[in-house]
Order: sequence, then C-alpha cells, then structure tokens
Amino acid sequence: MLAPNDDTGGPVFDNSYARLPERFYVRQPPRRVAAPSLIRLNRLLAATLGLDPEARSEAEWAEVFAGNRLLPGMDPVAMAYAGHQFGNFVPQLGDGRALLLGEVIGTDGVRRDIHLKGSGRTPFSRGGDGRAALGPVLREYLVSEAMHALGVPTTRALAAVTTGEPVFRDRELPGAVLARVARGHVRVGTFQYFAARGDTEAVRVLADYVIDRLYPDVRETDAPYRELLAAVARGQARLVARWLGLGFIHGVMNTDNLSLAGETIDYGPCAFMDAYDPATVFSSIDQGGRYAYARQPEMAQWNLARLAECLLPLLAEDQDRAVELATEVINQYARWFEADWREEMARKLGLATEHPHDQRLVEDLLELMQGARADFTLSFRALAASVEGDAAELRAQLGEGNAVDQWLSRWRERLEREGAEPEAAAQRLRAANPGCIPRNHRVEQAISAAETGDLAPFEALLDAVTRPFEEDTAQGPFARPPEPGEEVAQTFCGT
Ligand code: AMP
Ligand code: MG
Repeated sequence: MLAPNDDTGGPVFDNSYARLPERFYVRQPPRRVAAPSLIRLNRLLAATLGLDPEARSEAEWAEVFAGNRLLPGMDPVAMAYAGHQFGNFVPQLGDGRALLLGEVIGTDGVRRDIHLKGSGRTPFSRGGDGRAALGPVLREYLVSEAMHALGVPTTRALAAVTTGEPVFRDRELPGAVLARVARGHVRVGTFQYFAARGDTEAVRVLADYVIDRLYPDVRETDAPYRELLAAVARGQARLVARWLGLGFIHGVMNTDNLSLAGETIDYGPCAFMDAYDPATVFSSIDQGGRYAYARQPEMAQWNLARLAECLLPLLAEDQDRAVELATEVINQYARWFEADWREEMARKLGLATEHPHDQRLVEDLLELMQGARADFTLSFRALAASVEGDAAELRAQLGEGNAVDQWLSRWRERLEREGAEPEAAAQRLRAANPGCIPRNHRVEQAISAAETGDLAPFEALLDAVTRPFEEDTAQGPFARPPEPGEEVAQTFCGT
C-alpha cells in the first residue's frame, strides 16, 4: 500500500504502467502553459481518489491539472498504441496530446489512472499541436459525468482548466486541458501496436498487466488469456447495451477507443439522439455511417475480433486451435449482447420478468417511435405517467391512432400479468428511464457561451445531467428536445 505522505497529506502517486518495458511508452513531461485557470474541479471524485479539494488553492489545482506542476510520485508517460480508424489500420497512433500522469488507489480501494488530455506535444503527435480546445474538453466533461450519473461504466472528468493560450482549428479557440480518470488506458489498439510488430513477448506482458490490474480472477482459471478475452467481450456487450438503452452514439468506435477496462472512453463527436432513428450518425467524419446508433453492437464485435487476433499466439500452441477458441468467444459476445439488450429493454419497459413475447413488444414500440420521429428519451420517460393513467405525453410523442392504443393495452396487460402495482411500476420506470440527458443543442450552447467567458450555462447543464432521473430536471429546460432550427446535425472530432 502507498503511504499518504505528500505535503498536504494526500496520496503519493504511482505509475505501474511506467514500470513496463520501455517500448510501451515514452517518458514525457507535460508542456507548460501560460496562464492556467480552473474551470471546474470535480470535488466528489477528487475525494474518492483521496485528494482533498481544500488542501490546495484553486490556482494550485489549476497548475496541477494543466500539467505545470507534478505531484509527488507522478511519472508522466505518453502511451504507445495503434488502431483501426474507420476500418483502416494505423500501426502507430499513441498519446499525441495526452499523458498518463500516474495512478492512485482511491478510498474505495480501486486503482485509477490520472490522465491529461491537451497537455502538449509528444513523440506521437505527428502533425498535431498536442493541445485541446475548450469545446471538446467541456463536451467530454459533460457527457462523461452524465454517463456516470446514468450508471454507465465510463472514464470520469476530474478537472478542466483553460490554458490561457489559443489553439488554432478552423478558427482560433481557447485552449484547455481535461484531467481524466479511468480504471486503465489500455486499449485494443495497445495490443495491436505490439501484435503488428510481431512482438508476442510484449503482447504477453500487456495481457498479464491487464489481468493483474483489471481481471485478477481469470488468473485462477485454466485458460487465463482466453478468459481475459471473454471478460472484455462480456463487458463490451453490457456497455453497448447500455449505450443503446440511452440513445447514445459514441461516434468513433475505432479500436484505439475501446478500453480493456470496459469503460466508455474518448468522447469525441459523441451525442445522444433526440428523435429515434437507428441510422442516426452525428460525427462529421463518419461519412459511411460505420458507427451509426444501431451498428454499435456489431462494431464492438468487430473490434473484439481485432483484440482476439492479437491474443492468438497466447491462446494455444496450435494456431488453428487458437482461432477456434477465439471464434467461440467472439460468437459468444453476440449472445451476451442479445441477452443484455433484452434485459435493458425489459427494464426500460418496467418489466421485472422476461417473457418470449417481450421482444415483439419492444420492437413494436421502437417502430412506432421511429414512424413518429418520437423523442427517444421523452418517449421512455413518458411510460411512467402512462402506467399511472396519464398517457398524454406518450401520445404526444407517438401520435394518436389504433396502433398506439393497441400497443398501450398490450403493454399494460403485460405489466398486469406479472402483478405489477402501478405505483411500483412507475417508480421502476422513472429509475430506468432518465428525463434529462446532455442534448446536443444544449451542449453546443454551453460551449459557445464558455468560449465567450460565460460558464454559467455549462454549470447549469452539468447540474441537470448529473441528476438525470430526478423529476425536477425531467421537468426542467434541459430535458426538452431542440426546437426546429436548434437541432445540431453534426458534431466534430475532438481534435
Ligand atoms: P482521438 O481522436 O482522440 O481518438 O485521437 C486519435 C489520434 O490522434 C491519437 O493518437 C491522438 O493522440 C492523436 N491526436 C488527436 N488530436 C491531436 C492533436 N491536437 N495533436 C496531436 N495528436 C493528436
Ligand atoms: Mg482516441
């Protein structure tokens, strides 16, 4: 265990990743910024990490999370990784504008990475400036904290700071740094980096590192590497089912953005959809719709297959046998996903049991929603009032008509058949279906205001989206879908 003995009584950081062989990373201090200023420190999260928010002034925290000042034990490295970007393999990506500062064991006993995004050029920067603009930093802060509040495994936002320096994109923008917290930053692309170089020894070292840190139980099995693959696949199935249940679209499910820790990572052009349409794509760079809402389960499987390929040399001596073992897991993923999706949708319909006909009930609702261009979040949220006898909001979403009436009576019968009391069912429904998500037009408004120095909309939106199930936020201004003319059709990559 680490002794808490820095100058404020806080934890001394560690960096277990920096003890791996040197070809795994490049040691690199953050590059100083001119005038760091704290936008926000996530005090609750800081406390979970054992950092006392009051132990330092805001100016000192700004120095720390801008990368101008390292805390005891921090050992910053840029991690090496590769990745398939939109299906094309790039043998070297790596942290081009990010650094792993170190790890800390929280008050809950969990070891987590502290990572800076926007901390300056590294040997992996290629042509980039190593910096981040304020907009993408605030977007990641809002969406990752909303995801956490929604109960989705995710990286967290610990702090955001402005740098006092401009960055140049399509126009000049304020520069910022995000301090991010994760259970780990190893990606499928990290395995690919070594596998592509034929460095099986490194693949094994990396797999052992991930097992020790994230999946220690698989060590006890007869086939730890196969079980590692299965554990990661299991986590992805669950994660993507949760995304779909919330109308979330990641936007860039490249293999370098799939975390072995099973957390949602790398919030770039991500967004929650308003009107339900399974073909929805937001990302301006996703021309072919590769990462459209409904394709996410399949794309996660594709990414897992790339991980499986990297692990083949570890799975069995005989490579045909290894392929067989890997294929079993990849096929199993699809069954896990189906089960997780059914469970997710049952929860969203307020059902406590499963019945073979539920699939139809779900599909028919989604079809009605799609036909009416109903708002995804508001439609599900309206189920609670409907079960209490007020279906006005649901009808406002789905429209009037026989098909809607029929669906409502089938669903009510289904609930009655399992003996659900309306109040209990309504309570379950309100706990399963958020009233407030970070809607794209609101995120964009908050970003635009922040770019002119007004952080009030960011703070107000953050407050709402981190209390997504509460009735006051569900009734509040941030719950409403965009008016015609407010819709944001495209989001742009985090760069
Ligand atoms: P991302 O879009 O964040 O998943 O990044 C994909 C790759 O591009 C990673 O290797 C990043 O480090 C790199 N990258 C993105 N933006 C920049 C930037 N402004 N400067 C340097 N590298 C960058
Ligand atoms: Mg990335």
